[in-house]
Amino acid sequence: MESKPLAIVFRTSSGLRASTARVFSKFEHSSRSPRKVITIPKESWVIVGISLAAQLFALWKVVHHPSFSFSITTLAFFSGAFLADLITAFFHFGFDYVWPDKFPIMGPISVEFRHHHHRPMLDPSALCGNLTRGGYMCAIISVVAWFIADFPPGNWAYFWTATTMWIAMWGFFFHQIHSYTHMGKTVSPDEFNAAVRRISALPSADQKGEFIKLFNKVGIPKWVRFMQKCRLFLRPEVHWRHHETFESDFSSLNGWSDPLTNLFFGPFAKKRKAHRLLATLNSDSGV
Ligand SMILES: [Zn+2]
Ligand SMILES: [Zn+2]
Repeated sequence: MESKPLAIVFRTSSGLRASTARVFSKFEHSSRSPRKVITIPKESWVIVGISLAAQLFALWKVVHHPSFSFSITTLAFFSGAFLADLITAFFHFGFDYVWPDKFPIMGPISVEFRHHHHRPMLDPSALCGNLTRGGYMCAIISVVAWFIADFPPGNWAYFWTATTMWIAMWGFFFHQIHSYTHMGKTVSPDEFNAAVRRISALPSADQKGEFIKLFNKVGIPKWVRFMQKCRLFLRPEVHWRHHETFESDFSSLNGWSDPLTNLFFGPFAKKRKAHRLLATLNSDSGV
């Protein structure tokens, strides 16, 4: 049976981007085999509740830690944000390029991530689904924080306990924060991403006013836009770069780790894409 590639919503201008979209489209299509793969729930208030309970217990351990310090907690807030961002980048890269789509649990998540490339529509009001996705990472990391909290007291032991707790807390919101960069419910992803791309190409002096107009139009809540401007939340004007070629800017939380991860993820992604493109062309030509 002839395979039809999925519609490419994120339209691109260069040949490279078009090839990329085609390779991912083909790759995604190959996941449609009827064979069952083990999956985990995409939305569950029970998982969200378990994650919250795990976080609260980690918070209790931090507050009652014998080496508790406000300044170290503040430092840990930022180191936790960076490390959580780094973790999202590693997982995102793995979902885009490493995990086979039939691999238990990770495979179906990978398919979903690749689908998001073509239809970058995320809904910030889908709270349960967004928090469930962060909840898995958060619950596991919270448990790690419980154990670190029981290490012999001292500044370093406390720093790592607090950092691990903050990683869990930031991680809990990663998909919700990512969803605000797309705002897919209020404006079509085509229109939104094209506008972000167009504005990003303007001289920096002109960008501010244009972004204000766009983000007012799509309805990003003011406090979220403030957090984006403070670089605490991932900004749409950075995240579109990932959706352009899928070769860089893999982080989904605040983008702090992108300059580091782009150094080694970029070349690897290019290689994988070239390999997939070759395989796609060979299969199309019947080689
Ligand atoms: Zn991606
Ligand atoms: Zn995205």
